[in-house]
Amino acid sequence: MMDSKYKQIFENSKEGLLVANKSGTIEMVNPQVVKLFGYQSKEELLGQKIEILIPHELRKHHVNHRDNYSKNPTSRSMGIGKNLSAVRKDGSSFPVEVSLSHFKENDELKVIAFIVDITERVKIEAEVLKLNTELEREVQFRTAEINAQNKLLRSIAENFPNGNIYVVNDNFIIEWADGSLIREMGLTDQSLIGLSFKNRLPEKDKNAIIIELEKLIAGQSIRYDLTDKNRHFTIHGVPLDLSLNANKRALLVELDVTSQRKAELEMQDNLNKEKELNEMKSRFVSMASHEFRTPLSTIISSATIIGKYPEATQQSQREKHIERIKRSVFNLTGILNDFLSLDKLESGAATFKNQPINLYDFTQELNEEFSAIKKENQTLITDFKFEFDTINCDPIILKNCCLNLLSNATKYSKDDDFIDFTMYTSKTEFLTQVKDYGIGIPKDEQKELFSRFFRAKNVTNIQGTGLGLNIVKRYVDLMGGSITFESEVNSGTTFTIRIPIANMLKPIE
Ligand code: ATP
Ligand code: MG
Repeated sequence: MMDSKYKQIFENSKEGLLVANKSGTIEMVNPQVVKLFGYQSKEELLGQKIEILIPHELRKHHVNHRDNYSKNPTSRSMGIGKNLSAVRKDGSSFPVEVSLSHFKENDELKVIAFIVDITERVKIEAEVLKLNTELEREVQFRTAEINAQNKLLRSIAENFPNGNIYVVNDNFIIEWADGSLIREMGLTDQSLIGLSFKNRLPEKDKNAIIIELEKLIAGQSIRYDLTDKNRHFTIHGVPLDLSLNANKRALLVELDVTSQRKAELEMQDNLNKEKELNEMKSRFVSMASHEFRTPLSTIISSATIIGKYPEATQQSQREKHIERIKRSVFNLTGILNDFLSLDKLESGAATFKNQPINLYDFTQELNEEFSAIKKENQTLITDFKFEFDTINCDPIILKNCCLNLLSNATKYSKDDDFIDFTMYTSKTEFLTQVKDYGIGIPKDEQKELFSRFFRAKNVTNIQGTGLGLNIVKRYVDLMGGSITFESEVNSGTTFTIRIPIANMLKPIE
């Protein structure tokens, strides 16, 4: 029935081959089937129903399947998508894969089954499945772990106080970023990723920082301080050794240190002020000891001379020396007052003890005090006009300012010069002006005029410490006013103080 070529194939096939007739009776099996199903010889199978090879519980079903197949035979796998098992002679079962085909012999349908034992494959598949499941579980576990770590990292970074954290690659492209500053600026971490960190640097610092960044990629830690728009930042950088990844990366931490830096600067400033104050005091002491000498020797010589005029008729000589003594004492008190004022101003302890001042009385007092210090033949021309005759101010400070200007006017003009003294109040301002016709201030030195210890070159023989105008200016500033001047060498100088009247009509605190 089968020519020997096919017989050979049939007999030697590695697959189990079985031919059954329409009613399911086994008509042919090859040795592989005998072996697969644990029989001794094919005779044990021939003539048996095919169901002998099928697990007991499925046999009935199989008869139906078989009938259907016979009615509509095709070539196909059996039990697609099902795990088929077969039964050995000893009743044990094993997994199989079965393909069905058919042919006709003498007009009778024959079904041929190709049977492969897939025990090994199923075992391997099961193992693979088990491995896969384990692997998947491991992956899930790791992912959860990484997610938790990421979350932690993100939350650290997000809440990183006063700063930002960046991870950059070796081209300084931001791969990761977060921090309270970023959030403060209304940026999101995502909006920075992919941008160059260099773009975040202020233009003026860019090149210097880029040099630092290069070092970072070469494996060094770096630190850089920078100031941008009045804010101070420190950038710390550390190389990241992520050996898993061939690309080099770095961690950059940007900190806003503005408040610390401000505190530092303030401290430095205070220290400098302190130093300056000390320097000023010692400078003042050496100057004062020099400046004290002249008035003191005047006082001693005048006092000695007075002793030599005992007669009643010598009153006028005595008075001349008494005037000299008075002027010298005024000079000494002036120097001491200046020093005290300066000390108070420098240490921030200058306070205004405001009280109502009647300007008619006030100018009267100034006039009297001026007479004591003026040179003998100098004349004060006054011009007072008061829309408000009572103002609120510290009388000592205001007098100090006026007398400083008046004493300069007499000191720096000739014995018989006029001096104009103006004071007025209007709806808008308080103004006082002192004009002299004396030596004037050289143009090239005028810009220094209000600096401490400044004295112009043309005052060589005239006494002074160079503190008066500095003090006046600072007091006037504190009163919210201004001081200006005009001066021409050898023709005279005019100083003007203006203070908004509103500042002087305030009720007393
Ligand atoms: P003191 O501290 O005793 O007043 P001083 O008069 O030298 O000393 P300031 O009153 O501060 O100091 O004046 C500073 C300098 O300005 C003076 O040394 C002088 O060179 C110049 N100066 C001030 N007022 C006049 C003026 N009216 N005429 C010419 N020069 C003046
Ligand atoms: Mg002066």
